[in-house]
Amino acid sequence: MSSFHRVESPLDPGTAVYDHVLPAGEGWLHPIQAGQTLRILDLEGNQAVDTLFYNAHDFTERYSATETLKQQGAIYLTAGSQLMSSHGREMLTITADTCGRHDTLGGACAAESNAVRYALDKRPMHSCRDTFLKCLWQYDGGLSRKRRAASSVPDPLGGQAGPGPAPGALSRKRRAAPSVLDPLGGQAGPGPAQGALTKRDITCNINFFMNVPVTSKGGLEFADGVSAPGKYVEMRAAMDVLCLISNCPQLNNPCNAYNPTPVRLLIWN
Ligand SMILES: [Zn+2]
Repeated sequence: MSSFHRVESPLDPGTAVYDHVLPAGEGWLHPIQAGQTLRILDLEGNQAVDTLFYNAHDFTERYSATETLKQQGAIYLTAGSQLMSSHGREMLTITADTCGRHDTLGGACAAESNAVRYALDKRPMHSCRDTFLKCLWQYDGGLSRKRRAASSVPDPLGGQAGPGPAPGALSRKRRAAPSVLDPLGGQAGPGPAQGALTKRDITCNINFFMNVPVTSKGGLEFADGVSAPGKYVEMRAAMDVLCLISNCPQLNNPCNAYNPTPVRLLIWN
């Protein structure tokens, strides 16, 4: 397994400015400032941590799996990987990794993939995509409801459609609206002011601790996990980002022994 690259961190959990245990099946939406370091610690082993990043001041710039793979010329993420944005800029860099390999090809589990991979009656089971949507909904809920009440445009999350522009136009309108939310409480950047995050902002994610090897024939395998209790991955932010995590609730995949487990999240200044 020469492609596994393991690097330990010098950081002491006792000096972290944030320390939180995220139960299996829960979501987490949290700002990370430029220069801060985020550690994701796999407490019980082989847990999948589905993760997305957005520029905290301009949500139209977000993590891009394709830009990341193109930039590093390799398909797995590990220490040294720069996590690139859709605008071709470094968002974060993985600075330590005791697991050695993470996936960004396999995508997040969803109602649709539950039905296709497992069985039709698994479709309603809790998925990462549901968790992402719930986090985004809770994050911008008050703002969106206020805006919806003030206009007759359709609800991009599935509410009643009314007369007005298409959902795409709504998203652009929201992003162009004056900044009312700044997760970091600081200056909004010079780009478009941020608005709501919606379903269309959920794009190809990172699966920390997941092992999805590409076969010699070019296929993808969801293989047995390569992580173990206490393994961690750490990344330093190069810009202010908003981090969205679904701590995967999947109960149908043998790679986590059908047993989703909690992770610990730490941040250092
Ligand atoms: Zn999942």
